[in-house]
Amino acid sequence: MSEAPRNPAKLSTARRSPAQQALARLGLLRDIDLALHLPLRYEDETRITAIRSAREGEVAQIEGVVVHSEVQLHPRRQLVVVLDDGSGRCELRFFSFYPSQQKTMAVGERLRARGELRGGFWGRQMVHPAFRKAQGPLPAALTPVYPASAQLPQAYLRRAVATALARVPLPDTVPEALLPPLPQFQVKNEGKRLWGLREALLFLHHPTPDVALATLQDHSHPAWQRLKAEELLAQQLSQATARAQRARQHAPVLALPRAGEGLHAALLARLPFALTAAQQRVGAEIAADLAQAQPMHRLLQGDVGAGKTVVAALAACQAMDAGWQCVLMAPTEILARQHFAKLVQWLAPLLEARGQAVAWLAGGQRKKERAAMLAQIAGGQAALVVGTHAVIQEQVQLARLGLVVIDEQHRFGVAQRLALRQKPGAAAGAEPHLLMMTATPIPRTLAMSYYADLDVSTIDELPPGRTPVVTRLIADSRRDEVIARLREQVAGGRQAYWVCPLIEESEALDLRNATATHTELAGELPGVRVGLLHSRMPAPEKQAVMQAFQAGELALLVCTTVIEVGVDVPNASLMVVEHAERFGLSQLHQLRGRVGRGAAASACVLLYGTGEGGRLGPGARERLRAMVQSQDGFEIARRDLQIRGPGEFLGARQSGDAMLRFADLATDGALLQWARETAPRMLAEYPELARAHIARWLGGKSEYLKA
Ligand code: ADP
Ligand code: MG
Repeated sequence: MSEAPRNPAKLSTARRSPAQQALARLGLLRDIDLALHLPLRYEDETRITAIRSAREGEVAQIEGVVVHSEVQLHPRRQLVVVLDDGSGRCELRFFSFYPSQQKTMAVGERLRARGELRGGFWGRQMVHPAFRKAQGPLPAALTPVYPASAQLPQAYLRRAVATALARVPLPDTVPEALLPPLPQFQVKNEGKRLWGLREALLFLHHPTPDVALATLQDHSHPAWQRLKAEELLAQQLSQATARAQRARQHAPVLALPRAGEGLHAALLARLPFALTAAQQRVGAEIAADLAQAQPMHRLLQGDVGAGKTVVAALAACQAMDAGWQCVLMAPTEILARQHFAKLVQWLAPLLEARGQAVAWLAGGQRKKERAAMLAQIAGGQAALVVGTHAVIQEQVQLARLGLVVIDEQHRFGVAQRLALRQKPGAAAGAEPHLLMMTATPIPRTLAMSYYADLDVSTIDELPPGRTPVVTRLIADSRRDEVIARLREQVAGGRQAYWVCPLIEESEALDLRNATATHTELAGELPGVRVGLLHSRMPAPEKQAVMQAFQAGELALLVCTTVIEVGVDVPNASLMVVEHAERFGLSQLHQLRGRVGRGAAASACVLLYGTGEGGRLGPGARERLRAMVQSQDGFEIARRDLQIRGPGEFLGARQSGDAMLRFADLATDGALLQWARETAPRMLAEYPELARAHIARWLGGKSEYLKA
């Protein structure tokens, strides 16, 4: 089969040429991979322009006889060749050349040269044009220019692609009946006939010169549409398959206790607030999943401060009520500790009555404490385990794991999430239910494509009583005014954060910067207790600082981005972000979400430095503007997607292998919709073709999409 690796034995032995190795590095191993390696652009070598009518500044192909050839030494060594085509003359100049090339361009030879035509005092000329002996007919199709690399010359790649294209059979895997009946798929002037895959690929590699180049450039050409539809379908099929596999797995049935009974009801009764309608809705969605015998895979998204923790706590109650354990994992120790404190406050008294407790696990823990925790966990007294990624370590033996909650899920790698799901503890052969949470809302199109195998619950409402945060952009030069504002806030009994930027690739500089800012601000604000928090501090010290800030003993907290996720201090009403231009949009939104959590009017000041040029870069300006214009996490996420593309959102799914190469979610919504509707039908009606389609498009890469 030509879609399998070509002669794999040969490929795996090291005796490959540099060009072959370069092909392998680009993932171009199978014929199908080469066939799907599409040109970046094209060169038109199908026409000859008469020298006389070639226009200055245009790229043209000319053909003529060499009437003069000499190597000039002044002002620098160069080969000058004059071509005459009867209509006029054109000079070709080469500053580097081989003797063999000189021979090809000897007087009397007939040449084709292609390059940008320049006018000039000495008449028409081309500098370093592409050239070859004028032999044979002109090509009938445009010449492809492929994404190549230094070790992979264009000519070699062209040959490799052409060979692969000629050899690969490429039967259509998408049944005609399932193809979208959209006009943008139809072959021009051929009624309702749609482009086939093979036909589309052959065309895109070697389009006829009459094609409107713009439609190839912006991928709107029907051949492109066909390809993008296929790619999106492969993604949907792979995820639908993952979903179907999951549906065949077993998970403990965590039924809700009868109304008014159990931890679930007791927690609701203890809460100092009523759940918002959105919290109730997502709570019900989760509760229904947990009561199924198949593992839940649900993403809970909600803007910063939307109240996801309590929803997770209620899900944990449901698991514990049914006699199972729950693990909650958070990406940083600060965040995990905060969850732990909150869950202990809410649940410890309730659990105590049942002889159970909440356990804590983190990297920096004392041996003795840790051993005690591990024993409780293994023995089942610890009904709820909270911690950092320490919870996925081997020594952690859960007696009866029923539910896993991962906060800020995009901060974890695929491997870490898989490890947690595969933790033994759940009944033999069963998997725990999985609830992933994120405060970075995933734009709809991304959710529909990359997260198609997950169920998504969205909290789209903030708890009542929050005051909107006023966002200001202020130049670094006006720092004094900001400090004055800070003084006022603190004098009024409020608290504030001052975030120092991450200095790329230098944790040490980062630290010095935060330390210096801390000293400076402490000097500027006599009588104010100023704390410092950065990622290099030992865990107990971090914890002490955080506790002091939480208790109101520190009025100002100078920190690096360690506080980015999850910190909850309702009395804090001012957030200052230094060098805000260096932060990403979602990150800024997260930081801003640390204030405006209480009743007091809150503000977020984005200080920006303009650097040497005295101006902000365009990306930075756009980001900062978006922050001022919108408070809505979804809107911010949508803009972030526009500015940065999907990679940043996918976090652990970020693996380039799993990314779409051809389809663009911003413009291909209709195709995505079609792929979503078609995938389940294809799996049901044409399972063999579906398998072939996934193999063709994703090869071994589909695993990345499943974690
Ligand atoms: P996030 O969704 O960002 O994780 P949290 O769960 O930390 O948000 O909740 C933010 C704050 O709002 C917490 O102090 C929490 O106790 C509080 N909170 C959550 N739900 C409600 C509610 N329905 N009414 C009032 N306050 C709430
Ligand atoms: Mg949170």
